This record gives sequence, structure tokens and C-alpha cells, in this order.
Amino acid sequence: MMYDILNKKKQAKELTTHEINAVIQSLDKVPDYQISALLMAICINGMTPRETADLTMAMANSGEMLDLSSIKGKTLDKHSTGGVGDKTTFIVAPIMAALGFPMGKMSGRGLGHTGGTIDKLESIPGFNTNLSTHDFINITKKHGLCISAQTGNLAPADKKIYALRDTTATVDSIPLIAASIMSKKLAAGAEYILLDVKTGSGAFMQNVSDARELAKAMVDIGNSCGRKTAAIITDMSAPLGNTIGNSLEIEEAIKLLKGDKNIPDDLWEISISLSAHLLHMAEGIPLTECHTKAEEVIKNGKALKKFADMVEAQGGDRNYIEGEKTIPYKSVVPIISSCNGYVGAIDTAGVGLAAMKLGAGRQKMTDTICYESGIVMSVKLGDYVEKGQTMATLYSNLHNNVDDAEVKMLNSITINKIKPSIPPLIYETIGL
Ligand code: URA
Repeated sequence: MMYDILNKKKQAKELTTHEINAVIQSLDKVPDYQISALLMAICINGMTPRETADLTMAMANSGEMLDLSSIKGKTLDKHSTGGVGDKTTFIVAPIMAALGFPMGKMSGRGLGHTGGTIDKLESIPGFNTNLSTHDFINITKKHGLCISAQTGNLAPADKKIYALRDTTATVDSIPLIAASIMSKKLAAGAEYILLDVKTGSGAFMQNVSDARELAKAMVDIGNSCGRKTAAIITDMSAPLGNTIGNSLEIEEAIKLLKGDKNIPDDLWEISISLSAHLLHMAEGIPLTECHTKAEEVIKNGKALKKFADMVEAQGGDRNYIEGEKTIPYKSVVPIISSCNGYVGAIDTAGVGLAAMKLGAGRQKMTDTICYESGIVMSVKLGDYVEKGQTMATLYSNLHNNVDDAEVKMLNSITINKIKPSIPPLIYETIGL
């Protein structure tokens, strides 16, 4: 049967639900070369929306489907397709919890130039991301907020398929990406899902039309599987906020939750917009009102308290959140501009790779992370800089790769004589 399915996809014909289920249910029995051949045929010939939804459901059903029905209130989830300096989960999730909407969220680790939510949280001393389903649900019930690492039993078919895609040049297929992301979201159980699809030099989807196609595919899957799903396409042509790196990003998120006035506008705007859109999806109230409500729980400290409650419930020290405790950094290297001009372009993936070289990320899944390493940007796209001005600062507790990171960082910032046009932070919304 596998031979016939392969032949059918090779001829760009539509697979039936039964055929797709059969492939996913026999993943452990079918040789990897046949699954890889099918992935390549899908990568080249695509899938219809129905096939993509069937593949997603089959992958979601390959493991545990979390049942969040015992949690009171409308359950929400948010997913970002990955970027550099994206710490919005640590802001949006506490805001939503403070507004009375439970967010029990399963997240992943970082790879390559993109950071991972779980690594960032683990930079908080004592924070435990390896929770049982029982503890995950209980913490979400008690505090309205919990963020845990995806268990091995959440969409295990995706794990196997992703490993094959990684080695067979079949990662960049929109139906496969959409099915991979949405299988984990569906298995994680929330009723409302907001997808933050990034576009630009630090994103998976480098241009808006690819981002739109991916966003539409995922929104269709979510809605056809009975979850209220929407997407926002946001800019990733520069790092989000000023910090890149695990503990640095947590510190920046805490600063925002504390209402610090020196927060970069991009981080504030994207975090408030994502929260407002989630509230709008769940309650149907006008967006402007949703913005105000999201801002209110920052101003009155309720969102910060929710974050501290979650940190404590997951074994961390709430003094890192509410108090003045900070993590020490050792080596500090400034990145200096060699000329006058405007910051014309930022190779955001390059900045992510520089952070990875400093120890903030991993090249392969088995690499260990240095939580304190990272980069603080001092300039934004379009800023005027003078020769000798510091554009960014590298932080590292490791010393071996700092020179490499410095070169990568210098090469990632382009200075031009002409002021560049600045892309919008939010391009469009889909499904709202
Ligand atoms: N993230 C995922 O989870 N899956 C993909 O295929 C790509 C990004």
C-alpha cells in the first residue's frame, strides 16, 4: 500500500483520509526511506487543505490529546513561528491569565538562530519545565498560567517526521510546516489559538506572501478541527525588543510587566496587540477596548503577579521576578560602528547566530546552553549612528566564541547613507 500511496503523491494526486491515517499509524513499521520519499513528494507537489487537515489530525492523534475541560474558563494558546528576541509569551500569557483566561501552554526549545520559550524559562533559577500532565493541569487551574515543555507523547509522529525532514531537505514545505505546528497545538488542547506568523530576515518565512500562505493554512486547519484559530503576521526584520538570549530576554519581559518606561516600542506594541487579539477572539469585544484592558493589567501589577505565581508554582524563585535579584554576566564586548550613517538593514538571523555562538542557543539539539549569554541591541532599524558609537553589546560567560560572534554581529548590521523605510510591525490579521 505504501508503494501505491507514494506513486499517487508523485503524480500530484490527492490522498484519501484513510491513506493519510494509514501512513501515520504505521510510521514505526514503514521504512524511513519510504516516509522520506513521501515527504519529498509532498514538498514538491503540495497538499490540498483537506489533506493537510487530515495529516494534522493524524499526527495530533498519534499521542496524548490533552483534555483541558476541567479548567474553568475559555482556554487560550498562542504560538510564534520563531524569531530572534521574541519574548512575548512571558508578557501575553500573564496578561491573559490576569484577565481571567487560563493559559496552560506547551512550548519547545530553541534551535539554530531562533530561541526557545523553554530555554528562556529555564534561565530562572529552579524553574521546572518538565511537568507531568497532572501538575500542568493543576497549576493552570490554580494560577491560570503554566508553561511546560512538550512531553515526548505530544504528537510523537511529528517528532519522527520532523527528524526525517531535517535530513532530507523537506523542512520548507508549507503543508508540512502547518501540519507540524498545528498537530502540537491541537494536541495541547486549548479552545482558542492565536498564531504569530513572523516574516523578515529573522523568520522562517522571509516574505509576506509566504507568511500569509502559512498563516492561512494553519488558520484553516485549526478552524476545521473545531478550534477558534486566527493569525497575525508580524515583522521579524529586526530583533524584537533590545535583548537576545535567555536570561536577558526574561529580564526584558519582566521590565515590561513592571511597567518600566524604557521598554522598546516594538515589544510593547506586539505584546499588547497579541493580548488584545486573543481577548477579542475569546470575548468578541472591540479591539480598542481589548488594548485598554491588556494595558490595565500591566499598570495595576496583576500580570506581573501572575508571572511570579507561575514561576513559584514551577519551582522558581519569585524574587527574580518581583524583586531585584539579577543574573551576573562576565565578558562584555561592545559592537562599535566604523562609520556614520543609518542602520539600513539588520540580518536578524545573523544576530540570532551570533547569540548562538555566544552560547545562548544550540546548533544541534544535544548542545548545552549558557543562559546568561546574549546580546543587547542599542540601535533599531533606521537609527542614525556615528563612527565609534556602540550599536550592541555582547554578553557571555563563555570565552571561546566571542571573537566569532563579534564578527558575525558586525556583519549583520548594515550602515547606509540613506535612511531606510521601516516595515510595519503588524502586516495583517487572518481569521479575525
Ligand atoms: N516549527 C515546527 O514545529 N514545525 C515545523 O515544521 C517548523 C517550525
